[in-house]
Amino acid sequence: MAYDPNNIFAKILRGEAPSYKIYEDAKTFAFLDIMPQARGHTLVIPKTEAETIFDVEPDMLAAMIETTQELAAVVKRVVEAPGVMIAQLNGAAAGQTVFHVHMHIIPRWEGADFKLHAREMAPAAELKDLQAKILAALP
Ligand code: AMP
Repeated sequence: MAYDPNNIFAKILRGEAPSYKIYEDAKTFAFLDIMPQARGHTLVIPKTEAETIFDVEPDMLAAMIETTQELAAVVKRVVEAPGVMIAQLNGAAAGQTVFHVHMHIIPRWEGADFKLHAREMAPAAELKDLQAKILAALP
């Protein structure tokens, strides 16, 4: 399948769609998931036209993982989560719903299930508040 430049993450990258942005550098961009599976659910995307992990150039893949590692530590601290799940889905059969490669950072608490994937919008006020807290905690 060819990369669709009108997928929602491509629009966010071009500034054509809004996002709760928390980080950007030359190769990556990160923002809050608007249908979080847990408080602090964050997405990291590379600034390249790639649908899945199989389509990303190694340097962009490395940058995506590096940003994920850095942000996961910050998010974990901000939401005071004892654990963090890092997930990455490739293809509809694996549950991928947005076809621009991305990493999920999902904080986890013992005994607490995470919510269903891409189902329930979080209140804007909650996302805004979290965005501010993460931005304030970034090095
Ligand atoms: P995946 O199913 O792995 O492709 O993940 C896509 C993720 O993007 C899901 O967790 C959705 O909740 C999330 N999502 C979809 N649209 C947006 C959006 N406009 N802003 C932020 N997150 C989004």
